[in-house]
Order: sequence, then C-alpha cells, then structure tokens
Amino acid sequence: MRINCPHCGERSLDEFSYLGDAVVRPDLASPNAQEAFYVYGYERANVAGPMQELWYHAAGCHAWLVVTRDTRTHEILDVKSAQGVALERQKAAGTAQ
Ligand SMILES: [Zn+2]
Repeated sequence: MRINCPHCGERSLDEFSYLGDAVVRPDLASPNAQEAFYVYGYERANVAGPMQELWYHAAGCHAWLVVTRDTRTHEILDVKSAQGVALERQKAAGTAQ
C-alpha cells in the first residue's frame, strides 16, 4: 500500500504511522460531554467502506494526514493534510477564526 502525501508525494506505507479514526473528539466544555465521550470511546462505527483515518508521516515531513481508505479493499481514496481538514470542519461549523 502506498500513500500520496500532499507534501512529499507517493510514499511507502512503511513511512507512516496509523493513529485511528479521524472523527472529531467531543468538546469537554459541552453540557453532555460525559455521554459524548462514552460514545466517542466505546460506540464507534465499524465502517465497511470509505473511512477517514489519521496517519502520521513519521519518516517524511512529520505531517498529520487524513486518509480516506476503503476498509474493504484498503484502496486509498483521498489524502489531505489534517490541518486543512480541521480548518474545513471549523468553517463548516461556523467556528473558524
Ligand atoms: Zn509527507
């Protein structure tokens, strides 16, 4: 499997470390934080298909990436910088600064 890092180009999977699901962590200050963290930690979706995951380019540019991977075929469908994805999510939520 190869990952096309937006900063370094296509590289071997050996250069990357997998962190896990790229879902947004709940806000600790929200009124339902306890329930939200329970769901975040214990009721995750077991996706059969495209899923966004966090990967770290440890042997390259040291960037965090959001990789969209089909869990059935391991095909990499998209790779974006995690910073860019976070900004897109903030903009969509209306919390961009
Ligand atoms: Zn890189």
